[in-house]
Amino acid sequence: MNRRDLLQSGTLVLLLGKQHIARGATIVAVRVWPSKDYTRLTIESDGEIKARQFFIAEPPRLAVDIEGIDLIPALRELVAKVKSDDPNISGIRAGQNAPGVVRLVIDLKQPITPQVFTLPPVAAYQYRLVFDFYPVQVADPLETLIAERLADKSQTQPVPFSTSPPAPDPLGELITRQSGKPATSNAAAAPPPAQNKTAAVKPPPETLVPTAGKTDRLIIVALDPGHGGEDPGAVGPGGTREKDVVLQIALRLRDRINQQPNMRAYLTRDADFFVPLHIRVQKARKVSADLFISIHADAFFTDRPQGASVFALSDKGASSSAARWMADKENSADLVGGVNVKAKDAQVQKALLDMSTTAQINDSLKLGSAMLGEIGAVGKLHKPRVEQAGFAVLKAPDIPSVLVETAFISNPDEEAKLRGEAYQVQLSDAIMRGVQRYFARNPPLARNRPL
Ligand SMILES: [Zn+2]
Repeated sequence: MNRRDLLQSGTLVLLLGKQHIARGATIVAVRVWPSKDYTRLTIESDGEIKARQFFIAEPPRLAVDIEGIDLIPALRELVAKVKSDDPNISGIRAGQNAPGVVRLVIDLKQPITPQVFTLPPVAAYQYRLVFDFYPVQVADPLETLIAERLADKSQTQPVPFSTSPPAPDPLGELITRQSGKPATSNAAAAPPPAQNKTAAVKPPPETLVPTAGKTDRLIIVALDPGHGGEDPGAVGPGGTREKDVVLQIALRLRDRINQQPNMRAYLTRDADFFVPLHIRVQKARKVSADLFISIHADAFFTDRPQGASVFALSDKGASSSAARWMADKENSADLVGGVNVKAKDAQVQKALLDMSTTAQINDSLKLGSAMLGEIGAVGKLHKPRVEQAGFAVLKAPDIPSVLVETAFISNPDEEAKLRGEAYQVQLSDAIMRGVQRYFARNPPLARNRPL
């Protein structure tokens, strides 16, 4: 029986004594992950720490008493980690409230629903105390997407995909915007709120551009860069983090998709923060995405394996033991990234996502094959066929969903390729061609949507 079980079994807690529960923990790191979705604050320690929090409405702030620690430089440094452009919190103050009790006061920029939970040691992490600050008022993502689309159309002419890549690399700017800053790219592209609302309600008819397909509505492609925030994903021998390169590839792919007259990309994350697996699916469903493409980079214990692979969901076991291993590895992202398992929403969503359908899997296999053909033309393939396993992130019952392992980040040559612009461009072009090839054969159905 471990210490956690003892504490939960009630009567035994008295036998342990307070000093055993809390005393002696040392803070080893504090991290802040700002984003539009939520801001996360993580306090990592070498033992379990206890916290009590209370909300103060005017001005809005959360006070947290952490027991069993003294004010140390790491906590004082925390104060400096909050940037002024954090969408949710404006600052943190730390002080010694009583011997062995540190009080943090987190000043909030807007009404927030906080979630506080602990995570047991996993991967490279020791004990984590996590504070998630969710804004109470959230913009409708579909409305935002359509408003962005309309704003883009009024500024730029659509560029056909088949022309050469755009001259100035827009990713340079995107990466600058994303580094060390909150996820503002969607917000930056959107018009001010008032205009936003009008635009979404009354789309001007001339913005509907029919194309070769059989539908003239806007096609929404959900792009899902794996990992993020607390979860770096796989790390290459040269230190390249999966979460960074897959975001760069997703941003490049986003640009290609948005250049299409009838397509719009929606990113489940557009900056460095963690999104739980079921939330990624939920986000794609909220915007009624037509496709879901999760982007990852493989890793293995040895540096030899190489090449890209494409995965779809399976409803009857994995297509190979390697595919099952890969799904288990990707599904463990929630443990590393950190999910509040007690949140009601998480349980409801997980239950909903267990209704996989044969139709979804068939469409996903078609999409995967189209992509694999195109990726194979620009780089090595690890497996020539679409593999299947129980990836949690591919479980939207109504959206064809694939997971692309872009290359092996554990292979030094492929790690170098993943970091470089050339392969990122080739790969995003190839995925784009795969999407187009899929839609050419499987035109999207008409939908009751404003655009
Ligand atoms: Zn991954």
